[in-house]
Amino acid sequence: MTNINFLKELPSIDSIMEDGTVFPSINILSRKGVLRIAREVVDGYRERIRAGKEQGLDGESLRKRILNDVKGEIEKVALSKQRRVINATGVILHTNLGRSLLSEKCCEAIQQAARGYVDLELEIESARRCDRTRSVRRLLALLTGSEDALVVNNNAAAVLLAVHTLGAKGGVAVSRGELVEIGGSFRLPEILSSAVDNVMEIGTTNKTHIEDYEQAVEMGASLILKVHTSNYRIVGFTGEVSLSELVELGRDKGVPVMYDQGSGILFPFDTVGVEGEENIEDIVKTGVDLVSFSTDKVLGGPQGGAIVGRGDIISRLKRNHISRALRMGKLNLAALEQVLIQYWKGEFNEIPTYRMITTDYDSLHERAEKVVSGLRKKFKTLDVNIVKGESAIGGGSYPTNPLPSPLIEINLGEKVATGLSRRLRTIDPALMVRVKGDAVLLDLRTVSEEDDIYIVKAMIMSMDEFIRRE
Ligand SMILES: *Cc1c(COP(=O)(O)O)cnc(C)c1O
Repeated sequence: MTNINFLKELPSIDSIMEDGTVFPSINILSRKGVLRIAREVVDGYRERIRAGKEQGLDGESLRKRILNDVKGEIEKVALSKQRRVINATGVILHTNLGRSLLSEKCCEAIQQAARGYVDLELEIESARRCDRTRSVRRLLALLTGSEDALVVNNNAAAVLLAVHTLGAKGGVAVSRGELVEIGGSFRLPEILSSAVDNVMEIGTTNKTHIEDYEQAVEMGASLILKVHTSNYRIVGFTGEVSLSELVELGRDKGVPVMYDQGSGILFPFDTVGVEGEENIEDIVKTGVDLVSFSTDKVLGGPQGGAIVGRGDIISRLKRNHISRALRMGKLNLAALEQVLIQYWKGEFNEIPTYRMITTDYDSLHERAEKVVSGLRKKFKTLDVNIVKGESAIGGGSYPTNPLPSPLIEINLGEKVATGLSRRLRTIDPALMVRVKGDAVLLDLRTVSEEDDIYIVKAMIMSMDEFIRRE
């Protein structure tokens, strides 16, 4: 039988809809939804048969497979829900897991804004329309010592807005060594070229000199952009131009200088022993015209992008019509407002990201000991130890400054570690761990203390099941 003839064996959409196993689904997904899924699945099979796949099936098994796929897809859609994840990887700002957790105050603010009307763009006293970002603007300016601030949906949007506004006239000058890709599909070259026609890549990958910038300005560059290279470092024979040198050049030539700092550090972490990065306030002090950063990385707030700096330039950015397409929603604004107030009041320990960064080794060790003894109670011979390791702040920040952290190391046989980690991802809430060789590693830094007990239970349940199956 040729494949094309086999196409005739495809069940009709009507017969799928009438099938006793599919028909009841119209109660959860409506007839229209089920119909669309059935068509999608049958179309998929038709294409694969035409492409010479799905050979060696008879009509009856083809029908069974299609019905199964239709039911599977209906369930997947009807049960769509973000699943809770316990993050025992020790990567604090895990973009795939949603970056910063929010403080209680932020969560309450989100609930209030979600449930009811709020004075988002209304000045209550005068009943006049006003700027939805008024309070976060003010808070950010005060916190960073800048003249003004603006916020948009994320930092990629902030960079886009600034480059689109300021680079339009003569182009944007950026060092080749800083044309980076940052996790979560942020590719700077693509963002820049979608914002302006003239992206002036200057210098080389490992070295860029002040003369390179001067030349770009001579050629008309209307914005100098410096970018924090995040999780990427050039070592060896290297050279970059410091921000202060660029500020001087910009002043001299009347060209604005922007620094895309990225991680949004509003606290002097070096004072608590976490070294290696400058905070936004210190960067503003260099006299740079604009600094951009995410609000859901080290800052510890909801998704957003902020720009702080010179008032006249920020006003120009705000007047750019594309800023309307990049605006932040009320839920994120409500949360951002609260986390900034917490910075202002010095309630740092209420901010989960801050707490995770600054949790000390000993208290994590104590918690790890409890988890280990819970596991040993169940598995007397389990090879489990607490070893010295490292957590990562993640999100492209502090790439060369990991945090010392005690890790729970469970040594298992060959291949079991990977299998177990896969199994742990399927439970609910899913448990994300690290795997290193034959060992599973758990880092409690990114786990809230009340979830330690869940980790013990989840590990016992999964290991029990797993080891028996092996
Ligand atoms: C993370 C990062 C971005 C992208 O920010 P999003 O908020 O994820 O859009 C841009 N630039 C730098 C330097 C970053 O670290």
